[in-house]
Amino acid sequence: MRDIAAELLVLDSKGLKRRRRLLDSAQGPRVRIDGVQKLSFSSNDYLGLAGDPRIAEALCEGARKWGAGAGASHLVTGHQRIHEELEGRLAAYVGMPRALLFSSGYLANLAIVTTLATPSCEVFADRLNHASLNDAMMLSRVRFKRYPHCDHDALERQLSESKAAEKMVITDAVFSMDGDVAPLDRLFELCERHDAMLVVDDAHGFGILGKDGAGSLSHFRLDSPRIVYMGTLGKAAGVSGAFVAAADPVIELLIQKARPYIYTTAGAPALAHALIRSLELMAQESWRRAHLAQLSRQLAAALHSSRWRLLPSTTPIQPFIVGENSEAVALSDALAAAGILVPAIRPPTVPEGTARLRISLSAAHSEQDVLRLTEALHAAEGAVANGMSSA
Ligand SMILES: *Cc1c(COP(=O)(O)O)cnc(C)c1O
Repeated sequence: MRDIAAELLVLDSKGLKRRRRLLDSAQGPRVRIDGVQKLSFSSNDYLGLAGDPRIAEALCEGARKWGAGAGASHLVTGHQRIHEELEGRLAAYVGMPRALLFSSGYLANLAIVTTLATPSCEVFADRLNHASLNDAMMLSRVRFKRYPHCDHDALERQLSESKAAEKMVITDAVFSMDGDVAPLDRLFELCERHDAMLVVDDAHGFGILGKDGAGSLSHFRLDSPRIVYMGTLGKAAGVSGAFVAAADPVIELLIQKARPYIYTTAGAPALAHALIRSLELMAQESWRRAHLAQLSRQLAAALHSSRWRLLPSTTPIQPFIVGENSEAVALSDALAAAGILVPAIRPPTVPEGTARLRISLSAAHSEQDVLRLTEALHAAEGAVANGMSSA
């Protein structure tokens, strides 16, 4: 039998063993983590809605009205009216004909690629796409090529060379480690020219970009039956789950064929009820997006003269490129000692030589919070540069 305990020891000895930190509070800018109070810049709760009491209240209300569990898959008897209502609202929110709920973005991506890419399809994927999209391509056993990050010229060459009867281009709309936005307008143009389907994973753009947070399609004013859109509901929306929005026949095919949709229990109805409240708040409280933009300007201005480089980003993901792995870790440790939580991201998650702090802003942060972060960064800069923190 496989000696799993020994393998774990090896992982540990190489410093590669992952550990889950324990939160004793709701998600938000101030968390109690591993027993210590911290100012956190490390969640995907971009709009600050995960801990919003109005959504928590809607969750309770939903549970009282609909019970705790759906009790069956959507195709058996688990598809409750509250799911149907949420799907209608999601479609309207992103301006697509129809939407379909999934339990997670991971499952939604598996469903999209395994169902929509046939054996005669060739898939073209951005090199920095999310792991779930890569896994989806592997599970589909489809032919695929990855193109250099956001390089539409390279993609164009690949599309021109392809002899496949069907083509599909897959991209994150906002990249999770760089915070940059894919050139969806150019990609869409290429898809039109080469008759390809365009799959857009908007996990980090839904609620943030576009009119009233409608997402990246709204941001680029794209609307077409060749687009398949995936948005997640556990990041800016602050709850859990995901949805695919697309033309009616695409959604209908997913209902008929997508195994990650068919062979799993429908999401708890209370979640759907809470998400309807969350969508209302996302649309109404546009001050959250304005405040995020203000915080990101404040961060850029304060870090302008730093020895390291804040990547230009119009999203709440603000990567601070340090370069050396050890320096990134020392910087993250120095911040932690000052009571501030910002994760260091190292290769292989990001390219060699681009170790970074992934600063993630939330509408629930105050300007005071960001000031505390930038002051701590400036203070740590000298110490890390002089090698004191690594001593
Ligand atoms: C988080 C994320 C997912 C997965 O969504 P979950 O709902 O967390 O499973 C998919 N794609 C991208 C780009 C993500 O960041």
